[in-house]
Amino acid sequence: MPGLFTMANSIQGIRRDVHRPTSQATVRCRYRFAVVGLVEESECSMESSVDVVVVGAGFAGLTAARDLGAAGRTVCVVEARDRIGGRTWYRTDLFDGFGLEMGGTWIVPEQTFVSDEVRRYGIPVTDSELPGRMTWSDRGKVLDTLMPGPPAELGDLEHAVRALVAAGARLDVDKPLSDQGLADLDVSIREWADAAGLNGNARELLISWFCGCGNASADTGSALDILRWIAAMGNSVWGMVQASVLGQTFDNGTASLARALAEDSGAEIRLDTPVRWVRQESDRVVVGHDNGEITARRVLITVPIGVMQHIEFQPALSPAKHAISTENHAGQGQKVWALARNVPEDLSGFGWGTAFDYVGAMRTLADGVVLVCFAPEHDRVNADDIADVQRAVREFAPDAEVVAAATHRWVDDEWSRGTWTTFRAGQISRYEKDLAVPEGLVHFAGAHTAHRWPGFIDGAIDSGRRAAAELLEVLA
Ligand SMILES: Cc1cc2nc3c(=O)[nH]c(=O)nc-3n(C[C@H](O)[C@H](O)[C@H](O)COP(=O)(O)OP(=O)(O)OC[C@H]3O[C@@H](n4cnc5c(N)ncnc54)[C@H](O)[C@@H]3O)c2cc1C
Repeated sequence: MPGLFTMANSIQGIRRDVHRPTSQATVRCRYRFAVVGLVEESECSMESSVDVVVVGAGFAGLTAARDLGAAGRTVCVVEARDRIGGRTWYRTDLFDGFGLEMGGTWIVPEQTFVSDEVRRYGIPVTDSELPGRMTWSDRGKVLDTLMPGPPAELGDLEHAVRALVAAGARLDVDKPLSDQGLADLDVSIREWADAAGLNGNARELLISWFCGCGNASADTGSALDILRWIAAMGNSVWGMVQASVLGQTFDNGTASLARALAEDSGAEIRLDTPVRWVRQESDRVVVGHDNGEITARRVLITVPIGVMQHIEFQPALSPAKHAISTENHAGQGQKVWALARNVPEDLSGFGWGTAFDYVGAMRTLADGVVLVCFAPEHDRVNADDIADVQRAVREFAPDAEVVAAATHRWVDDEWSRGTWTTFRAGQISRYEKDLAVPEGLVHFAGAHTAHRWPGFIDGAIDSGRRAAAELLEVLA
């Protein structure tokens, strides 16, 4: 819907005033942490030098900054956007004040890194309600069956579940998957479904569900990366359903945890400051951004995979990191919010051969039911066009009348270039072990460097903790 979504928005919580004096000698930045009424100001000169510059104020960068600050290190977090949170973005300015997560949303207790932080800061979260029934859409035709196919196909479903559990049992998600002889699983979702001998609606549903989990198309996403979800949930297919659409949500948005980390870090956070180059010198590293330079003993890069190649590194990035950044990952789909009338209040719809692969009801408001919808390719649905969103929602709820829609185009966003990390077929085997390896004075974090949950907030926090420990060891 034109006008419903605008790119330039302020984040709740942190407001920013940047004063640029005529002299280029000093850039003064003032950051105001408005949430708790606490005003922190910091002045930073272009000559400033710190122990660590953290590039990116997503969950990886904020967690690392918090841990480094707690250990007494000086940290400067440099962020391209006008807000913290990265690929999480909680907005309350749409849908009549109802909070919409444009990016990362659900967590599950099995994600121990994020759950620990939620407990540490006393952040309220709420379990999703189990829907009364599932809705199945077969190429736009809503089935009136309890299961996704006729009774004659129940054997296909059982075979699919067995294949998932057998494959999941081969993974040890606490170690690099590329060491575990899993190349036969590191193939496209479609190839894996064929190799596993899946049939009927069970095959179609499973392919579509994997695409939904990966926000990736059947021919690009790695089946191994999705099977990792099952393994990380104790090799449970039901656990994977929980991790995909039935987890906990943040009562006050993911921004509440991002703010808690930012405040606790005590770090200087420079917003609106895109980093353009990183130059290593003999015993220090210089970070060049739009407003000047910062010198540090080490730098931590937390930008998404596809963004890394747009920073100029001297010396150049290793061939593996450069190659994966150029290829980018397969998470190139859509998350669309819709406000709709005439839809079931407990809709939880899985579809195959449909524009959206999942449409689920989140809350009922005076104007209709809030639906969250996912598509595995970024151009399946035009979220600026209510009629197009309605067409796609009607494949799950034929009488739906969509009255509003909203999205953020993460794929076109130069600071994300994709949604959540889902590796392309073959990328885990080729690059996984290189992603977190430091290169001289430059270290690397970001959800994509985590072993258990590389597509999640949990993976980002895991990576931030790992990188901070690594930095503290070399800075000691
Ligand atoms: C639509 C969507 C739905 C999702 N759903 C879920 C979910 O339900 N549950 C879940 O756990 N996870 C979900 N995720 C994934 C989760 O949001 C991410 O895995 C996590 O937030 C990544 O954190 P990060 O710190 O690694 O990266 P990011 O959050 O991307 O942080 C990197 C930061 O670097 C900044 N940056 C980039 N380039 C530069 C530069 N040159 N200079 C300075 N700064 C730069 C970026 O602006 C960004 O703030 C979802 C993501 C999306 C997009």
